[in-house]
Amino acid sequence: MPVADYAAYRTMLDRARAGKFAYPAVNVTSPTTANAVLRGLAESGSDGIIQVSTGGGAFASGTAVKDMALGAISIAEHVHRVADRYPIHVALHTDHCQADKLDAFVMPLVEETERRRKTGLPNLFSSHMFDGSALPLQDNLDIAVKLRERLNRSDLILEIEAGVVGGEEDGVRASAAARLYTTPEDTLEVARRLNAIPGPPYLLAATFGNVHGVYKPGHVKLKPSILKDCQDAVTRACGGAAQFYFVFHGGSGSELRDIHEALEYGVVKMNVDTDMQYAFTRAVAHHCFQHYDGVLRVDGEVGDKKAYDPRSYLAAAEQAMADRVKRAAVELRSAGTAMVHA
Ligand SMILES: [Zn+2]
Repeated sequence: MPVADYAAYRTMLDRARAGKFAYPAVNVTSPTTANAVLRGLAESGSDGIIQVSTGGGAFASGTAVKDMALGAISIAEHVHRVADRYPIHVALHTDHCQADKLDAFVMPLVEETERRRKTGLPNLFSSHMFDGSALPLQDNLDIAVKLRERLNRSDLILEIEAGVVGGEEDGVRASAAARLYTTPEDTLEVARRLNAIPGPPYLLAATFGNVHGVYKPGHVKLKPSILKDCQDAVTRACGGAAQFYFVFHGGSGSELRDIHEALEYGVVKMNVDTDMQYAFTRAVAHHCFQHYDGVLRVDGEVGDKKAYDPRSYLAAAEQAMADRVKRAAVELRSAGTAMVHA
């Protein structure tokens, strides 16, 4: 299928919330990792979301160029080219973008979509995240409101964050003192400000103890019931139509029962990065250990071209990451839910 257009994406989000499942939203940094997501989604009969972070975009543009927007465009164009070879819908999203990076990352991508629409081309990305969680809530929402107005004009969906996800992602580390739990009062304020602008639903990364990265058991205390408290509060104040579309950040390494509880309360997208990174690299390491004297020229020998051709271990890594995507689709109950038409 082609990359999900606005109508298909909205249908995806509504189906997930009504059906109490969520889409794997997988960070990619190259054509190979993007292909792994498409393959994993296709093999599990799940629609899903491919996303690019600021660091992922910079990497994808080339280590000598390091242009986060350029790399994100390159990955998105690749996905637009190949997506219709897979029988599922995929949306394209950009991950965490702090206020000081908006001008270097999200805005050039929005402008690219605006340019494309003028010539009749589909949007480049389907949605963008603005992460103002490090700012006071009103400052966060002032920027979010402006961005939502701009994105609405091009059928782009906004994701924002209220509360702080712990851990580290792309070198941005949340402080130990950061509030790891969003409050219903905060999310009511989000609803009040963002619902004042008519438009499509927005995605809300509310935090309930989640952290980026994977930690040993016992270090992370997830409280998915916070999401229920927030939904209950917004339903009481604004009615059922105002219920949130939640995003579960830092999904890697989470207990299945916490994931399933979160799905009950309106999580429609779960970001998985770390577990995918591990699956990919695990396959590369396996290849190198298995073919030690093939990938290396040991003791004057010549190695084995078949073993050190990057395609050999990257194909294994693509398959391994696709398998991890399939597991995520089962855990998030999106497996087998792919839309036939949209
Ligand atoms: Zn995140």
